[in-house]
Amino acid sequence: MIPRAGGKAMYDQFGRRIDYLRISVTDKCNLRCTYCMPVEGLEWIDRDEFLTYEEISSVVRQMAEHGLRRIRLTGGEPLVRRDLPDLVRQLSAIPGIEDIALSTNAILLPQFGRDLKEAGVNRVNVSLDTLRRERFRDVARRPERFFDATLEGLAVAERMGFAPLKINTVLMRGLNDDEIEDFAQITRERPWHVRFIELMPTGDNLHLSKRFLSTDSVLQRLQDIGDLLPAAGPVGNGPATYFRFDGAPGTVGVITPLSHNYCDRCNRVRLTADGKLRTCLFGTHEVDLKTPLRATGDIVPAVREALAGKPERHLLQLGTARGSGGLRALSQVGG
Ligand code: SAM
Ligand code: SF4
Repeated sequence: MIPRAGGKAMYDQFGRRIDYLRISVTDKCNLRCTYCMPVEGLEWIDRDEFLTYEEISSVVRQMAEHGLRRIRLTGGEPLVRRDLPDLVRQLSAIPGIEDIALSTNAILLPQFGRDLKEAGVNRVNVSLDTLRRERFRDVARRPERFFDATLEGLAVAERMGFAPLKINTVLMRGLNDDEIEDFAQITRERPWHVRFIELMPTGDNLHLSKRFLSTDSVLQRLQDIGDLLPAAGPVGNGPATYFRFDGAPGTVGVITPLSHNYCDRCNRVRLTADGKLRTCLFGTHEVDLKTPLRATGDIVPAVREALAGKPERHLLQLGTARGSGGLRALSQVGG
């Protein structure tokens, strides 16, 4: 933390203000999205290595004293970690925390949605890469009933009043690019925010590089079904750029890590399930918080060290894992 005059805030070595923490609560998942996780799974982090909820809360409390304001719980699939609402309750009681969001595949939202809402989750982002039931097996490599569960989870998210509701759709040429218009049409009918994400290369998905599709081509295609005008985005901290069809209740967003880098406005760091603070999604740079947490309880010097080393930008490049910071899959850090 490099202090600035006039109040407590965290800045990195390039003067970017850091007020957002993405917390991966587990690396495990009930799906196997083709771009994210190998069918056989990964070498899971040992459960004993996980930070406890009390430890996560301590990290957040200490960072909140230095300007942390927003949190996103992610995974793997965050809802597969037991008693997640307990963690949310602890986090929402921390002074300074203004927003708690969740990234999920929605499958377990019917079970836990109400508790999470009552505990303090304001909004959810739901991953959905196809609207076609028969295709779910190809993209998420689980039977169609998981697709039904996802849709039920989305319906629950809407009923529970999680808002704004964002859908994350990873673009894959030849796998789901024929659904771009269908996804975009949703925003004309519902106040949902559909965000198309460029496929990011990691160690285990390089075979999909040929399926990469730039969001520029998506925006061009969508102009054929209506005027898509630049729009203010919904509440959130994301790197997406938003557009809206005339009169539509929802928006179309694009997230462009490869075609248009947005690192200059990065506001975030990431906490892995085993307590490493990663300063860039795709950097090798990480600082262990668990050791100081368990030794003295004080993580502030380690956070300071991390921010001093946050890289200026990622070096991601299509077709190679070199820029991916040693990651096999984004599920290892929460995306
Ligand atoms: N399981 C939750 C979910 O799917 O929303 C949270 C974790 S997931 C790793 C977070 C986000 O990362 C999802 O929107 C997912 O689609 C995205 N993601 C994972 N691997 C990706 C990749 N290689 N390229 C682009 N997006 C990816
Ligand atoms: Fe699981 Fe999310 Fe990765 Fe899909 S993207 S395998 S739902 S962690």
